[in-house]
Amino acid sequence: MPLSVASSLLAIVHAHAPRFKGACSQGCLAPAAKSLPDMTVPGGSYVLLTSLDRERTITVGALGERTFAAGAYAYVGSAMGGLDARIARHLRADKRLHWHIDYLLAHARVIEVVRVASAERLECRIAAALAERLEPVRGFGCSDCACASHLFRAGETMALRAAVAAVVAAAVESA
Ligand SMILES: [Zn+2]
Repeated sequence: MPLSVASSLLAIVHAHAPRFKGACSQGCLAPAAKSLPDMTVPGGSYVLLTSLDRERTITVGALGERTFAAGAYAYVGSAMGGLDARIARHLRADKRLHWHIDYLLAHARVIEVVRVASAERLECRIAAALAERLEPVRGFGCSDCACASHLFRAGETMALRAAVAAVVAAAVESA
C-alpha cells in the first residue's frame, strides 16, 4: 500500500475515534471525515430489507389487520443505544411481538440489513426519502413520529435495493 493511502486511512480512523478531540499528532482532519458513516458509535439507524413470498393478511398489533402484497419491503428503524442488539432481536424468531415490524417478520424473510451508524438519528429522513421512491404502508412503524410510514414496498428486490442504497447514501452525506 502506498504511504499516502495508508496515511489517509489512518486519518479517517483517528477522526472517528470516540474520544478524538481537536488536533492530533497524526494530522487528522476531523471535518473531512464528517460525511462518512461513523463506525465507532454503537447506535444509529438501520434498514431491514425483507421479502414476502405471497400475499398475506396479517394482524399488526394495534394497527389491526392489513393485507400485504407479495414483494420486497424495506423497514426503517433506529437504535441510538446500540444497533447490534436491535438487529439481532429483529433476526431472532423467538420473541414477544411488540413493534409493528415484529408481526410482519413472523411471515417475511429478512434478506439484507443496512446499518447506518451515526450519532444523529436519521431514520425519519431516510423514511421520508423512501416514501418518494417506493410504496408506503400507511401507519406502519411510525407511532412515535410524524411520518406517514416507516415501511415501504417494491415489486422486486432489485428495485428495493437500489432505492435504499441511494437514499441511505444521501442521508449519510447530508448528516
Ligand atoms: Zn418517522
